[in-house]
Amino acid sequence: MKRYKIVYDRQNCIGAGPCAAVSPTHWYLDNERKAHIVGGQRNETTLEETVECDESELSVHMNAAVSCPVNVIHIHDQKIKKQLI
Ligand code: SF4
Repeated sequence: MKRYKIVYDRQNCIGAGPCAAVSPTHWYLDNERKAHIVGGQRNETTLEETVECDESELSVHMNAAVSCPVNVIHIHDQKIKKQLI
């Protein structure tokens, strides 16, 4: 298990796109103008996407999360059990 878990609420994404603009290596928009996490896993029931990362990728995901105007990208520190954003 990696230390950080990214949890993205795809259902409430408005397709504004800054996540993919600031972090294009880890985020992209699909044909429906909804964001995806590169390498993310989707829960077909909740439509949430998740991916785990370590310290080296944290800032890339944090930049995406901070840029999101509707706050649908969250990051959990699984070591100290705290939601960072
Ligand atoms: S910034 Fe937020 S609302 Fe915009 S595409 Fe990314 S996840 Fe969706």
